[in-house]
Amino acid sequence: MKILVSGGGIAGLACALEFGRRGHDVTVIERAPHLRLTGTPIDIRGDAIEAVEKMGLLTRIQARRVRMSEQTQFLDIHGEPIALMPIAEIGDSDDDIEILREDLVGILADAVSDAATIRFDDSIKVLAHSDDHVDAQFASGRTARYDLVVGADGQYSAVRRLVFGPDEHYLRHLGVYFALAHLPDEPHTEGANSIYNVPGRMAGVFRYGGKAVAVFEFRSESVDYDPDDVDGKKQILFDAFADYRSWRIPELLEAARVDPAFYFSAASQVHLTSWHRGRVVLVGDAGYCAAFLSGRGTSLAL
Ligand SMILES: Cc1cc2nc3c(=O)[nH]c(=O)nc-3n(C[C@H](O)[C@H](O)[C@H](O)COP(=O)(O)OP(=O)(O)OC[C@H]3O[C@@H](n4cnc5c(N)ncnc54)[C@H](O)[C@@H]3O)c2cc1C
Repeated sequence: MKILVSGGGIAGLACALEFGRRGHDVTVIERAPHLRLTGTPIDIRGDAIEAVEKMGLLTRIQARRVRMSEQTQFLDIHGEPIALMPIAEIGDSDDDIEILREDLVGILADAVSDAATIRFDDSIKVLAHSDDHVDAQFASGRTARYDLVVGADGQYSAVRRLVFGPDEHYLRHLGVYFALAHLPDEPHTEGANSIYNVPGRMAGVFRYGGKAVAVFEFRSESVDYDPDDVDGKKQILFDAFADYRSWRIPELLEAARVDPAFYFSAASQVHLTSWHRGRVVLVGDAGYCAAFLSGRGTSLAL
């Protein structure tokens, strides 16, 4: 079959690998100009461990295993620890494999290079599906016909919108937003992860593998935003913390302001009664996003 996969994230690359190895002609189309590598370490858990073993990737994944700092500490306004949370209290099981999101994307992309073609900087604009094929029209102006189209384009899937209907029918907002920014100038010490709370909000610094990221979470009613508008998403974060200047909040917000790979997401779940319509199918967050709060998104995608 000639297969189009929309989205070069975890689900899209895993899917492309499996189809490509079975001899199908697979193209992955990724909207970003390159693979998106941001993200805190993610967990491969439960059945997903067996899935990566069947894909022949378990050894490579285990070799890149990281351990988040052994402790997370809650800080007071002066940056002094007021409570400690041992990592053992957060993990599911000792079998969980924690790996940098960028390493997992890298391992999948490497494996996929013989099995599929990845095309960057393009996305699907129109899909017309019939019983025996799907016609796609791309933002670049290209058109092509496929036997199967896979929507692996994340929580705000374009494929879902085009074939299943508008987001508001399927997305359930859980009332929390999450953002990440790189801290390239943070000293490379392997200290505890730090969390600082103000009412309804938290800012923190997480460290892993010699790197550090600023992490933000805040409660909010659903905010309308364009997932493609990075400046608009940064503004939502700045507005949420506008009244708070304590601890390292201004400095962490500044890191978000200058980070081109800034990541912002609503904690939302996707609920569909079916994951396919004819020859169009959804996988990963596009079809069954459990929200980042679940700690299961990557495992479900795999
Ligand atoms: C940059 C980034 C950082 C993340 N950081 C974290 C984190 O720190 N913690 C956490 O729990 N989860 C994080 N996630 C989400 C987590 O990776 C997913 O929940 C999980 O892995 C499920 O993967 P997925 O492939 O379904 O979706 P995603 O990993 O979101 O991948 C979707 C891919 O589709 C691409 N895409 C989107 N729209 C289109 C379109 N219209 N056309 C073509 N391509 C499109 C995106 O650029 C992305 O590469 C992050 C996701 C991304 C993209």
